[in-house]
Amino acid sequence: MAKESLFEGALRQFNKAADLLKLDGGMREVLSTHKRELTVHFPVKMDDGSVRVFTGYRFQHNITRGPAKGGIRYHPNVSEDEIKTLSFLMTWKCAVAGIPFGGSKGGIKVDPTELSESELERLSRRYFSEISIIVGPTEDVPAPDVNTNGKIMSWFLDTYSMNVGHSTLGIVTGKPLELGGSLGRSEATGRGVSIIANEASKYFLGDEIKGKTVAVQGFGNVGSFTALILEQTYGAKVVAISDITGGYYNPEGINVKEAFDYATANKSLEGYNKAQKITNEELLELDVDVLIPAALERAITAENADKVRAKIIVEAANGPTTPEADEILNSKGIKIVPDFLSNSGGVTVSYFEWVQGLYSYFWDLENVRSALEKIMKGAFKDSVDMLEEQKTDMRTASYMVAINKVATATRLRGIFP
Ligand code: NAD
Repeated sequence: MAKESLFEGALRQFNKAADLLKLDGGMREVLSTHKRELTVHFPVKMDDGSVRVFTGYRFQHNITRGPAKGGIRYHPNVSEDEIKTLSFLMTWKCAVAGIPFGGSKGGIKVDPTELSESELERLSRRYFSEISIIVGPTEDVPAPDVNTNGKIMSWFLDTYSMNVGHSTLGIVTGKPLELGGSLGRSEATGRGVSIIANEASKYFLGDEIKGKTVAVQGFGNVGSFTALILEQTYGAKVVAISDITGGYYNPEGINVKEAFDYATANKSLEGYNKAQKITNEELLELDVDVLIPAALERAITAENADKVRAKIIVEAANGPTTPEADEILNSKGIKIVPDFLSNSGGVTVSYFEWVQGLYSYFWDLENVRSALEKIMKGAFKDSVDMLEEQKTDMRTASYMVAINKVATATRLRGIFP
């Protein structure tokens, strides 16, 4: 049997929710079909005078509720299937959070570490010019993703602005603060995950996360802020953290601020000696209240799902649980808060950045944090209400909330002409 593509796997989860919603055939086809799929092949002049042709993508899945929104990644493994799936998931992420965007994603098949700074700049500017026929501040708003950052967003902004003849702050998010970025963007995904973890603890375990044990896999942008905020703001006992160098476990609780400063100074947790060294596999199998995979996709698979002992999994990374593992965990009674709900804090603050850019009026940090908290709590409550009504799992309930919102918007608009 041919291996299921990423998109087929995502559609399977979508269809489970669509069945429960009794979505009719036409609506199901509209919501599972991409609006626009752009593939571009473009030349870039290399420093040695040679020319190389690269392939890039920008897919827009759905724009019924507002402009499309989604990151751009640079990676040798970027593929049509990956971009198609991630843009599809962005639609549901924006819908479940209730922010007025649809879903998109883009990428270039390239290993950026092989390029010089000036090659990277020419590649970025040419790619952005190529996709400018479908992106724009009211059409589709890109953001950083794997191997892209504020510097590349600045080149995108400049490229677009040069072509239209005026500075356009709303064209991308994830910009540096000096160029219209939002306060609170770098911590946003981790803060959102922490808010959701606390809500999940209250709902599934009957009490705040204060004093409860937590293990966090991955100590990059998302994992480090999640662990730090859970400890400092919510009083959770973070007993294990990890990164590519392995896991660090202390049953008495890790001093996350100290580990955060250590990782910032040393670029990784390698050599952190205030905890016992464990493997990343062992971290996933710890007997904790809450497990937060915040590193990579496919961390929990059919091979290790049976060994997971956490009571709740809050998915912070995109796609950390395979569909097969999902079934095993569900059958064990482990509660899983799905990625597109738990990690929607990032795109929510991106939405705030876009709004601030359009108005050229910028908010203070407290404003950003309180608006984020309100949205995350509301999104969690919507999913829980659906969970209680449908007696299903949390992933399906969240999908149902999201699909319902896009289906309702589609019905209200009607089919043109
Ligand atoms: P990052 O590159 O900053 O951090 C990744 C972390 O994972 C690093 O600490 C790295 O050492 C660790 N890691 C890599 N391989 C590992 C392994 N085999 N075992 C354990 N740890 C490993 O990335 P990030 O921005 O923190 O993103 C993490 C995940 O969250 C990704 O799936 C990303 O798509 C998702 N996500 C990120 C954001 C965001 O705003 N940054 C938003 C939504 C979703």
